[in-house]
Amino acid sequence: MSYEIEIIRHSLAHVMAAAVKKLYGDVKFAGGPAIENGFFYDFDTEHKFSPEDFPKIEKEMRELIKSNGQFEKKNVSLVEAKQIFHDQPYKMEWLNEYDANGEVLSIYTFRDFVDLCRGPHVESSKDLPRDGFKIRNVAGAYWKGDSKNKMLQRVYVDAFANTSELEEFLKMQEEAAARDNRKLGRDMDLFHFEPEYAPGAVFWHDKGYKIYRRLIEYVRHRQELAGYQEISTPSVMDKCLWETSGHWAKYGEHNYSGKTQDGKVFCIKPMSCPGGMLVFGQGIKSYKDLPLYMAEFGKVHRYEAAGGLSGLMRVREFTQDDAHIFCTENQLESEVVKVLRFIKDIYSKFGFEKISMKLATRKESEFRIGSDEIWDRAENALKNALEKNGIEFEIAQGDAAFYGPKIDNYIKDSMGRPWQCGTVQLDMNLPERFDLSYIGEDGEKHRPIMLHRAMLGSIERFMGILIESTGGNLPLWLSPEPVVVAPISEKFKEYANEVVDKLRDSGIYARADLRDEKVNYKIRELSLAKTPIIAVVGEKEMADKTVTLRHLGNEKQETVSLSDFVKQMKHAVQMPK
Ligand code: ZN
Repeated sequence: MSYEIEIIRHSLAHVMAAAVKKLYGDVKFAGGPAIENGFFYDFDTEHKFSPEDFPKIEKEMRELIKSNGQFEKKNVSLVEAKQIFHDQPYKMEWLNEYDANGEVLSIYTFRDFVDLCRGPHVESSKDLPRDGFKIRNVAGAYWKGDSKNKMLQRVYVDAFANTSELEEFLKMQEEAAARDNRKLGRDMDLFHFEPEYAPGAVFWHDKGYKIYRRLIEYVRHRQELAGYQEISTPSVMDKCLWETSGHWAKYGEHNYSGKTQDGKVFCIKPMSCPGGMLVFGQGIKSYKDLPLYMAEFGKVHRYEAAGGLSGLMRVREFTQDDAHIFCTENQLESEVVKVLRFIKDIYSKFGFEKISMKLATRKESEFRIGSDEIWDRAENALKNALEKNGIEFEIAQGDAAFYGPKIDNYIKDSMGRPWQCGTVQLDMNLPERFDLSYIGEDGEKHRPIMLHRAMLGSIERFMGILIESTGGNLPLWLSPEPVVVAPISEKFKEYANEVVDKLRDSGIYARADLRDEKVNYKIRELSLAKTPIIAVVGEKEMADKTVTLRHLGNEKQETVSLSDFVKQMKHAVQMPK
């Protein structure tokens, strides 16, 4: 019979516990749930697990599985359970806190390992894969996740229904590690981090900063053509502004703030929105000004827990391509559709064609502001915009922001991993708090509807996704150095410089690699740094006014005339329309 993968994973956790008990004797067992891609189990034992133990444990697990052991379920009372687990302190702690209320508890026995468990499990270990699992690592984990408690040893295992699924997963992990943005950031000399001085903040090197700038330039260019204004508001503002916006109360502990000599408290902006509200509030706005699109590439700071920081994917300082769309209630639906299309089109230019959307709806009433009626209207407006335009979406119940519902955009990278980037959020809070208004056709003051939108989201994170998804093989228009010219010896330096000049004269970034190294060494190094095109020049190339091209990820070489090459490149490095 075939079981759901969660049941297989959770059953394997019992098998591992049984194996560990057999091999290491005196072990206190905490718990072992199924997780994404596998399971873990928390052990408390004198023996310190290391990778050398893994094959031994795996072998013992295989033996146990082969023995066709049964998973026997038994219902027991709380008193009986306490007798069974009297020498297992973690199980006892759980039982002592458990208010059974007359309810029976279930225990599962597999070989000589007994666990308190709701199940369900496979019936017999013959239903478990013998080669579908592999121990990944061991890490410290506090009992109940509380640092005041004892540190246990958590053994993580990747587990799948069969060998080929496991192998596929492991291959994917390997691929992901090879494409990790931190690794490629080093190989390509794009950026680095200084955890001691500025945890979670990027030090951009020349080449990385060029990509970063180009991402902003592209969004800026497209926004301007779409009728957006671009503003820039201060990075440091008085705490009272954040109290007005409500961010201080909601996210106070994530803010960076400090006192000035005059005794005031200032806050480094965690988001650009309140500044944008102050700009909208300048002067009188009329219905004729709406919809009004106001964008800002704001550098924002948020104090994220040190443990959660991860390369470009999770940082404390980042640039958001935030924009605010002020409109009337009548314009809302069409504006939502317009901005979703805009985001989709932008993603397609980076090769992200698979986009999925989630409509995040309201939380419980104590976690949100605004009346049910306003929420009904807001959620319906977003839903209608999606439905009427045939845009597929899922509903994420309870995932809305406290100030309004939102539509989150997920892109899938080349390895099939989803990433949330863009978002369109309806905000019923800020226009109210900043008392924003426009004069309607009737000559009266009205409150504008406000949408927040981010397309790339965090530029840093988007760059991380882009680097990992392409494996560093970036589109030519984004590449900081699309062409490097490599002469095969010193004799051809002059011609290499001539090629570079020709390219630069046509607006193409290029340089010559004039180091006194063998050309093969240069090619190896330049390929490792993910140089898209290496133009090799020697005797023949110089005589014929040609270049021999090597494209990244392609072994084949081709020789073309210099003038054709310049023409091709001129076209290839253009920003997409
Ligand atoms: Zn905003």
